[in-house]
Amino acid sequence: MNETSPLSDLLSLRGRTALVTGGSGGIGAAVVELLLEAGATVLNADLPGHEGPPGAARYVPCDLGDAQAVAAFCDELPQVDCLVHCAGITRDGVVWKMRDEDWDVVLRVNLDAAFRLVRAVVPRMRKAGQGRIVLISSINGERGKFGQANYTASKAGLIGFARTVAREVGRFGVRVNVVAPGLILTPMTESLPEPVMARALEETALGEAGRPRDVARAVLYLCSDLSSHVTGQVLRVDGGQLTA
Ligand code: NAD
Repeated sequence: MNETSPLSDLLSLRGRTALVTGGSGGIGAAVVELLLEAGATVLNADLPGHEGPPGAARYVPCDLGDAQAVAAFCDELPQVDCLVHCAGITRDGVVWKMRDEDWDVVLRVNLDAAFRLVRAVVPRMRKAGQGRIVLISSINGERGKFGQANYTASKAGLIGFARTVAREVGRFGVRVNVVAPGLILTPMTESLPEPVMARALEETALGEAGRPRDVARAVLYLCSDLSSHVTGQVLRVDGGQLTA
């Protein structure tokens, strides 16, 4: 790829393998679909029994909240060129009522799994001299959110983690970035109480909630050669919800 490559080549992921976690969810399924459209071979790692919409992605069941399952999964991984960690969960509650298990499971799925997967894919990316890692955080990881101490800690953790790994692997042609969505209409948000939804919409400069495909486009940008000089960044896809 050089400076005069046509746009379609810069966006193409032909010949590349992408691993998407949580690829059966609202945002994950849109990411899977777009990466397939860009020509990648896609593996979708989601919970057992959560195969997601039918498509050309290979579904690989894995409970990312189970350290042993993650270790076994990592041992079996093929060469991965793009890793997108999209799986994420919430277990909300104010901090003084938060149970250990709600803290632990959110950190395990959202943050610990990212660490273990990145650790597993980086050696082969380094050897290949190229790789792209995209971690899905949240604007709430940057600003905090009432009732989400566990979730926001995990999402803020992803940002520090990504910036460090970006520094460690950049010289080997591996780029690491974060996408921080604002309110996106998915199964995760459809049960939000009406006042919470209304407040989020009010905060948004564009006046509307995002769609999974808005996030998927940012992921494709960061996985493609269009973003060849971009690493260690947090790209918000939030319609201007958080502008500071
Ligand atoms: P979703 O609930 O629709 O999808 C999450 C996916 O993760 C599901 O397919 C689920 O099965 C999978 N998953 C959950 N636990 C897992 C586990 N233990 N092992 C493997 N897979 C597991 O949620 P979404 O709205 O599509 O969110 C996707 C990502 O975007 C999450 O990381 C979320 O925190 C983040 N995010 C979402 C929003 C939003 O408004 N929807 C905003 C900011 C950030």
